[in-house]
Amino acid sequence: MSKKSRGLTTKIFIGLLVGLIVGIVVYQLPDGTFKNNILIDGIFQLLGQVFLRGIMMMVVPLVFISLVNGASSMGDVKKLGRVGARTILFYLVTTAFAVTLALALGYLIKPGTGLDLGTIEQVETTVSSKTPLVQILYEMVPRNPIAAMGEGNMLQIIVFAIITGIGLSTLGEKVKIVVQIFEQLNELIIKMVGFVMLFAPIGVFGLIARTFATVGYAALVPLLKYIIAVYIGLILHAGLIYSGMLKGLTGLSPKIFFKKIFPAMSVAFSTASSGATVPINLDINEKEFGVSRNIASFTIPLGATINMDGTAIMQGVATFFIAQVYNVPLSIGAILTVVLTATLASIGTAGVPGAGTIMLSMVLQSIGLPIEGIGLIMGIDRLVDMGRTAVNITGDAACTVIIAKKEGELKEEIFNSDSKELSK
Ligand code: ASP
Repeated sequence: MSKKSRGLTTKIFIGLLVGLIVGIVVYQLPDGTFKNNILIDGIFQLLGQVFLRGIMMMVVPLVFISLVNGASSMGDVKKLGRVGARTILFYLVTTAFAVTLALALGYLIKPGTGLDLGTIEQVETTVSSKTPLVQILYEMVPRNPIAAMGEGNMLQIIVFAIITGIGLSTLGEKVKIVVQIFEQLNELIIKMVGFVMLFAPIGVFGLIARTFATVGYAALVPLLKYIIAVYIGLILHAGLIYSGMLKGLTGLSPKIFFKKIFPAMSVAFSTASSGATVPINLDINEKEFGVSRNIASFTIPLGATINMDGTAIMQGVATFFIAQVYNVPLSIGAILTVVLTATLASIGTAGVPGAGTIMLSMVLQSIGLPIEGIGLIMGIDRLVDMGRTAVNITGDAACTVIIAKKEGELKEEIFNSDSKELSK
């Protein structure tokens, strides 16, 4: 990483810590205009939202442009097909692992037993009814690509971008100028993201301070076991599965991987949005891991949309939690159904805060658990969302590095180099 971006990482981290401390202090203050209107819904909200919206502003054009580039620069359609198939397979398998691990933890830790339902405020949920799988599949094809962009419907944007990219690469020389325009747009958008990222430390401060000033730590106590179980799952998954796959499939050092991915993890942690983390994840994959742009610009935006291992872990633990709270024993069949639906739900989960909890309704309904159970965890969802999003995007990066290595598109000297030698 260049000196400049290393400085930025440190600053983001400081923003995060200061936000946490300030948030907890503010939480202790008596409710009133100063605390609620001036701080929580005033300053913290302003700083956080300006950053969040700034970065969200870049997401649709970035994902579209970068996927068109990725797909068109893959050279031949066969290679795109191979990389695409491997990427999707990798994403699905790791997610299935994740939810299995989570179910084991849910079974062992039993987060829901001993929970006194009476003391927990039931939060209204606005969970939509079950979306059939077939519908998730056919709705990936946009009826109107411009509307898809307007709505920020990532799956539809991805489908349209990949088809555009394939068209460009099939036409080759004939559309040279269009390809160049897309390449230049890519440069432009990355530059613009850089501008927004300059505001990251302050934005992260605002987001974290607001979360903790609202929730505080005392509110955590009844749900602590649930949170801890999810976090154990997240740490085990990242530490064992990603490290093991990296080491086993590529021989690359997991230690270097985690050290270099950390800035992206902290952006994911503070924004709770995989979508918002795409820019920095792309940057790290290219500049720090030495992954070629055509691979990264394909796998990272795709992963941010369909690969959600952290979310699957939350869904596995939450299912057990809710089943235990409502005293519903889970049969083997129910558990297998959860593995399947949570894996598929993760594909349909948007990379935005809280989306995974909404999709949890699909998992609960598939085995007949009451969706009202979601109300129990909604209040603290943000704290879990931050961690699971960090794992979601780490999975995208791990997959990218592995695929790039297999395709001969990873410069190992860059991966192994000390961050500071790299620049610009
Ligand atoms: N916030 C997550 C993400 O963007 C999705 C979720 O809610 O689980 O990756």
